[in-house]
Amino acid sequence: MNDHFYFRMLTYFSTHFSIEYILRTERKTGFRKKGGKPIKGNKMRLRVLGAAQEVTGSNYLLEVDGKRVLVDCGLYQGGASVENHTPLDYDPSSIDAVLLTHAHLDHTGKVPLLVKQGYKGPVYGTRPTLELCDILWRDAAHIQKEDAEWQSRKNMRKGFPPVEPLYTLEDVERTLEYLRAVSYDDVVEIVDGLRVRFRDAGHILGSAILEIWLKESEEEVKMVFSGDLGPQETVMEANPAVVEDADFVVIESTYGNRNHKTNLESREEFRQTMREMLKDHGKVLIPTFVVDRAQRVLYELKLMQQDGMLPDNVPIYFDSPMGAKTTAIYNEHISLLSSEIQEEARKGLDPFTPKQLHVVESVDESKAINSIKHAIVLAGSGMCSGGRIVHHLKNNLFREDTHVVFVGYQAKGTLGRRLIDGSKVVRVAGEEVSVKAKLHTINGFSAHADRSDLLTWASNFKTNPVFIVIHGEPEASNALAASLQEEGVSAIVPQLGQEFVLTPAKEIARKPKVAPVFERETLKKKAASILEEIEKTAETLKLERDLDNPVIMSLIVSAETLLETAKEKLESQREAMSKR
Ligand SMILES: [Zn+2]
Ligand SMILES: [Zn+2]
Repeated sequence: MNDHFYFRMLTYFSTHFSIEYILRTERKTGFRKKGGKPIKGNKMRLRVLGAAQEVTGSNYLLEVDGKRVLVDCGLYQGGASVENHTPLDYDPSSIDAVLLTHAHLDHTGKVPLLVKQGYKGPVYGTRPTLELCDILWRDAAHIQKEDAEWQSRKNMRKGFPPVEPLYTLEDVERTLEYLRAVSYDDVVEIVDGLRVRFRDAGHILGSAILEIWLKESEEEVKMVFSGDLGPQETVMEANPAVVEDADFVVIESTYGNRNHKTNLESREEFRQTMREMLKDHGKVLIPTFVVDRAQRVLYELKLMQQDGMLPDNVPIYFDSPMGAKTTAIYNEHISLLSSEIQEEARKGLDPFTPKQLHVVESVDESKAINSIKHAIVLAGSGMCSGGRIVHHLKNNLFREDTHVVFVGYQAKGTLGRRLIDGSKVVRVAGEEVSVKAKLHTINGFSAHADRSDLLTWASNFKTNPVFIVIHGEPEASNALAASLQEEGVSAIVPQLGQEFVLTPAKEIARKPKVAPVFERETLKKKAASILEEIEKTAETLKLERDLDNPVIMSLIVSAETLLETAKEKLESQREAMSKR
């Protein structure tokens, strides 16, 4: 396919689908396009300012009666991290309050930046969330300092000015003064016209689903933010709370197109990996988020030791200066964790401390692990985009007796993703390394709900809300939205910056929803006019070099995904036809 035609096809798919979507949803939900005229008589609204058709950068702005409240204020991670340096979409001093669903940096990592730029209001979260934020933000400030110094040295050699870190440790310390802890299940008034209830989301310690009631001139709207949802069959946390009523539900879709294996299967998979590693007498590297996934892996290792499957003499290194602190927070709040973990603790067995566990603090100790041939090493970051796991990978990926076990989500643009996508040579810390190690993905250890878990949670709603599907790559979000629509539910995959006017459910026209059906003649006409439009757009894009614009690029990438999905569908249809 030549490039021009390819581009035409991509844009056709993206334009066609999104316009259909917008027209349909506009009628149904009172949603308006960015920059459109506000609908009279209603000022309650939601703006999607992050995690739209991607998994990181969660950030939503609620407006009610002249007040502005943020839900999450997260960093972009992986390939999208350049976005962190673009100016915020709002004046921080115009924000009245911030609500945090959970501690992960893609939901909270920009709060210190908000404070640095003038925010002085309260930041609400559950107590464990705020305790974990304290640790994660300090670490983020440290990483940003190192990144900025590295970039500045590079700039200096080119004669460019130095760069500033996003925020510093001092900004983090100032931010801590604004933190306000709330308990699960209490209804709290945040500003006039906005009340919130934090419910357990079962994702990581302290994670919350937010039930938010907005009220303005006698109209009340209820919004639910799923936050990141845990699986229905949990090991570490309590089950995600059931919520039954809402007008709008903002739902995550990380695994909107994928089901995990069961806990039992995943456990067996992990054990099989360990058996291979014991046979090879090599090293196991487990890139892991220091919060939650690390504790889960430590717990699994402990169970293996108890069962006699993992000998007590294989050293386990938790190579993270934050590791001891996060584990301590988990131990402090054991009563919020699953009954299984609580039971272990009641028996007096420390669930997160297997035998031979060494928590590594200093860099020298971390480097010393290189000379140990047979060991299990847990280190961050979970997606291999930084942190100590990078040097372990650099020193071990080329060895055949190394096993790398991925236990969490790997976002596009990260080293972890390149590895699981099968790259044979990868660039690690500036050096090309060939990949000879054996790679394993245990996605049943995920702290995220899978596709059927998400649909189960969504099916609890009895009020037929409109679902706004966020926090997923386009294929995942679209797949979840399509399944919700098939169930007869309104579901929208928003664009970045999209705004929703919030009206009570009774005012939202609710017809039976069916998957879009395209009439042939109309479609042909539409295709012709769209293709003409594309021609013009393509010319402008070339002239203005807009392809450097990450927002434009992300739209084109979404189009590519849609095209790939269409191609796959066509192929499988043809295959099915030929078998008949
Ligand atoms: Zn999360
Ligand atoms: Zn997340």
